[in-house]
Amino acid sequence: MLLGMTASHAAWLHDDADVMGTRITVELFHPDASVAQQGVDAVIAEMHRIDNNMSPWIETSELARLNRDAAEKPVTVSREFFDLIERSLSFSRMTDGAFDITFASVGFLYDYREGVRPDDRQRQQAAALINYLNLQLDDTDRTIHYSKPGVRIDLGGIAKGHAVDRSIELLQSLGIEQALVTAGGDSRTVGERWGRPWNIGVRHPDDADKLVAVIPLQDVAVSTSGDYQRYFDEDGVRYHHIINPDSGDSARGLRSVTIIGPDATTTDALSTSVFVLGLKKGMDLVNRLPGIDAILVDAHGRLHYSNELLPAKKPDDSVKATTESVTH
Ligand code: AMP
Ligand code: MG
Repeated sequence: MLLGMTASHAAWLHDDADVMGTRITVELFHPDASVAQQGVDAVIAEMHRIDNNMSPWIETSELARLNRDAAEKPVTVSREFFDLIERSLSFSRMTDGAFDITFASVGFLYDYREGVRPDDRQRQQAAALINYLNLQLDDTDRTIHYSKPGVRIDLGGIAKGHAVDRSIELLQSLGIEQALVTAGGDSRTVGERWGRPWNIGVRHPDDADKLVAVIPLQDVAVSTSGDYQRYFDEDGVRYHHIINPDSGDSARGLRSVTIIGPDATTTDALSTSVFVLGLKKGMDLVNRLPGIDAILVDAHGRLHYSNELLPAKKPDDSVKATTESVTH
């Protein structure tokens, strides 16, 4: 029996669910097992709520409504949605347009599961519509207007981080002080796990069972973007889900980008951004931003660490992904 644990192990809960086309993991502790269960349920419900609002595949989502109507007229959206779009635009400005939710003007022409991609002409035509300046926001009316027909947005590069942050807020409001919430490649931790930091493993780009780094974390967020998450290979070229807004083609040069920072919305947007920016520009950006660290895996499988990063524990080959708290 551990000190302070009235309900024995019952108060440490772990749950997984598939939401937002991705795997959700919640692990948390509360001395009262019923509060712990409430926390798990609240996180899963929150993930579903955000998916219903921000999925491009759900016709009734705010996002789908915008893509249908906003080129014709300004569309009023919820405060939460408006704020996330504004936050996306601030990352566009910070990254010189590497992060751009209007990437979807081209993105919808790809189907990674079916191996479908636009031909060069289609891609170039649609890429001309990618520009975050094509989004006009009016804060007083909370409206969004697309300045050109054909413009589309997708929040796939930031919504999971937002969902993780909202989930952590919900847990904290329930008085839960030790938790890990993960949505796909985006995680955030609060407090400790059994008196020790949480471990996040960064997987090898070509082998899901092998880790290239393990990072002990406490009260921070971590996001990983990789070219192995949604992709197909054709004639030796990988087409994957992170799009360079300049070309409308997949961003190439890095294999994976892991960002560590204060909140998951920031780390989610920055992992996608740095992937697009590439090794030099991406690392320069990270090293300029206070409180942000990065581990990059380049095309040769080499690791690159940002200046401030505390030495990450490098596992030997015997370390398996399954021994860690969570793997990205
Ligand atoms: P992540 O796994 O967080 O890197 O997010 C990848 C997702 O971000 C993709 O599946 C797209 O939905 C979206 N995305 C792709 N390219 C961009 C881009 N240049 N800017 C913003 N979002 C993007
Ligand atoms: Mg991201």
